[in-house]
Amino acid sequence: MRPNLQPPPSAGGSSSANKGRPRRRADLTLPLPQRDPSLAVPLPLPPSSNSAPPTSNSNSNAVPLQVNISELDRVNRIGSGTGGTVYKVIHRPTSRLYALKVIYGHHEESVRRQIRREIEILRDVDHPNVVKCHEMYDHNGEIQVLLEFMDGGSLEGIPISHESNLSDLARQVLSGLNYLHRRHIVHRDIKPSNLLINSKKVVKIADFGVSRILDQTMDPCNSSVGTIAYMSPERINTDLNHGLYDGYAGDIWSLGVSILEFYLGRFPFAVGRQGDWASLMCAICMSQPPEAPPTASNEFRHFISCCLQRDPARRWTASRLLQHPFILRGQQQQQHQVAQNLHQLLPPPPPLSS
Ligand code: ATP
Ligand code: MG
Repeated sequence: MRPNLQPPPSAGGSSSANKGRPRRRADLTLPLPQRDPSLAVPLPLPPSSNSAPPTSNSNSNAVPLQVNISELDRVNRIGSGTGGTVYKVIHRPTSRLYALKVIYGHHEESVRRQIRREIEILRDVDHPNVVKCHEMYDHNGEIQVLLEFMDGGSLEGIPISHESNLSDLARQVLSGLNYLHRRHIVHRDIKPSNLLINSKKVVKIADFGVSRILDQTMDPCNSSVGTIAYMSPERINTDLNHGLYDGYAGDIWSLGVSILEFYLGRFPFAVGRQGDWASLMCAICMSQPPEAPPTASNEFRHFISCCLQRDPARRWTASRLLQHPFILRGQQQQQHQVAQNLHQLLPPPPPLSS
């Protein structure tokens, strides 16, 4: 809806059109009928972000122009990963909640400059399925990144066996990925712990860029570099694709592994996700890609196979996957659900007069 830019007519104004009419009361209010909460019907998940053009308001946490680090209070520690610790923080002047990621270690000035440049790019990223990155602070050499707070946490370890839920989840992640890829941003670390959900059931991709910075600044032999469990075979073993690594196709592989993990309720390779580097490398690079089980629908099985192609050139792109029957079928089911819910909300038709 376009905002109405016309100034509101002044109440009780002196224009000639108003002459002769009773004076309007500026504070007149109409009592609204009370809603009966027992009639409330749970509404389905929000519509596809494809159709909604991203705007500065597309993320729930509207961006204050500048958030000063001294105005932030830590509420609690949310969790820690290989790169840093995440805190829930409150911005005192506005009472807004954010997540603050404190990146481990003190980095050299040249690295901090590079991180600042990256964060400047990331601050422009604005899509309903991508966690908003608001600010970056250089606090005596310690880097802290202010992020949109996702009150439902991450999807790590959550089994999702219903294909319609999985289709909606995949569509949301693909919308975010498609947006990033169109802007030539590769995530490089898609995995369940980097897919966050909020209480409105909106799923968002987190940690893009941040992981890329860490990748570039950390010693690859350092054990603090993240897991290879969700990496594509050609990224782990650069011999596989003549040394070529296509980051976009790499993200699609990681998405496929994550979606299959949600469906199965376990890491889909014949080795634990926390397994050592050698076992993971054998499982991912030397065996056939995992498949969805025969009990799954043909659409879902095909969708997974489009993501988990060994040859990166054969993997579908994010924009093509958004048109895959598994995603389209889920959208149709959702629209049907919306229509049914609306039907239940409407009052019964009046009896026909004979
Ligand atoms: P890794 O460092 O290996 O990527 P990770 O993703 O679990 O692992 P972090 O990114 O540091 O590590 O996140 C730690 C935890 O903090 C996550 O599991 C997630 O639950 C939570 N978290 C991260 N970002 C946010 C956020 N923006 N809002 C709410 N919770 C978050
Ligand atoms: Mg993370």
